Amino acid sequence: ANIQLLTVLGATGSIGESTLDVVGRHPDRYRVFALSGHSRIERLAEQCRRFSPTYAVVGDELAAQRLRALLVADGASTEVLVGEAGLVAVAQAPEVDAVMAAIVGAAGLRPTLAAARAGKRVLLANKEALVMSGALFMTAVAEGGATLLPIDSEHNAVFQALPAGYDRRPTAHGVCRVLLTASGGPFRDREPATLEGVTPEEACAHPNWSMGRKISVDSATMMNKGLEVIEAHWLFGVPADAIDVVVHRQSVIHSMVAYADGSVLAQLGNPDMRTPIAHALAYPDRIDAGVAPLDLCAIARLDFQAPDLRRFPCLALAYDALRAGAGLPAVLNAANEIAVEAFLNGRIGYLDIARIIEATMAQMADAGDASLEQIESVDAEARSRAKALVKTRETA
Ligand code: NDP
Ligand code: MG
Repeated sequence: ANIQLLTVLGATGSIGESTLDVVGRHPDRYRVFALSGHSRIERLAEQCRRFSPTYAVVGDELAAQRLRALLVADGASTEVLVGEAGLVAVAQAPEVDAVMAAIVGAAGLRPTLAAARAGKRVLLANKEALVMSGALFMTAVAEGGATLLPIDSEHNAVFQALPAGYDRRPTAHGVCRVLLTASGGPFRDREPATLEGVTPEEACAHPNWSMGRKISVDSATMMNKGLEVIEAHWLFGVPADAIDVVVHRQSVIHSMVAYADGSVLAQLGNPDMRTPIAHALAYPDRIDAGVAPLDLCAIARLDFQAPDLRRFPCLALAYDALRAGAGLPAVLNAANEIAVEAFLNGRIGYLDIARIIEATMAQMADAGDASLEQIESVDAEARSRAKALVKTRETA
């Protein structure tokens, strides 16, 4: 078989590391063309040592100098590129077959779009890019002739439960509903009244998954599931009213598709991101991901429950944003990124996250999403409004 040449954007993160773990198991199938990192430069240097990519990309000149010094000390031949231009270059380079889009947040938008426009196999972990610019992104995929494979475990599960050749027309395929499962995060059993003083450490202690800090807080607030509802809408062409969230604490069923004949198809597995990563890398083949087999008898039971929107206002806000359409999902996403960062830095309380997002959305109810420039200006405005709201909360 031909060796696939791979770019990993966000290689130093949780998804990036899991990707390289799977890739390292299959040197006969994959070679790394480029890796990117942001603050973890030493980790990036170690990855370069192990995978010998042609390029490594970092955020600024200072980081580039540090990385070059580390690489020279190793005698490695990797060339270092800088900034968004570097990310875009390695995402769309003609020799690249597949791009793992695993930068967190809005910073991943332009490089991920570039990979789509260049017709790559796009392995999409960066859900924020799709939430911000769903319509634009799906057009870029179609026009670029890209193959879009979801990495988010729920969407990867839905993809696996849909018929081959599914073309985003649910009714044409007898698809009635998409059921996204949610662990409920670390606070699923807490009374809302007891959440006021929770710390970033408590919010990041996810019961089932090990993930980056931003998405861990998103899981605690269930904004993560809200972003995933919007993500599912764009990936699968399913309207908000046909996407359900089911709290399923064991995280064994990763999501489901309900069909017109009453069938419900599910994908199951241990909660380990290497499974969806390996699926998307090899699709339609199946390869070893290093994941332990699922032991259903040891798990013994699977529980399901409806989400409590009083406890998880962020989930309701995401449905509101999707139903409002246009630029509102971008506003939701930007305000969430600012609020989560402020919470992680100890500047605001946990319950302020939802309040800030709701207030930002109320201020920007007519935001548009007609072009990338408009989306980026909506994103910037929502960030500055959310920052102003953080200040008022801080002094409150
Ligand atoms: P991490 O925080 O662990 O990793 C994020 C990556 O992005 C790192 O490589 C980081 O570099 C890089 N990065 C951060 N900020 C910037 C920036 N401004 N410019 C360029 N690069 C940047 O996050 P995760 O791996 O957990 O998540 C990555 C994406 O995947 C997110 O969109 C998340 O929602 C999604 N996802 C993650 C899942 C998981 O299990 N972790 C599950 C489903 C989706 P550095 O570390 O060097 O600073
Ligand atoms: Mg997910």
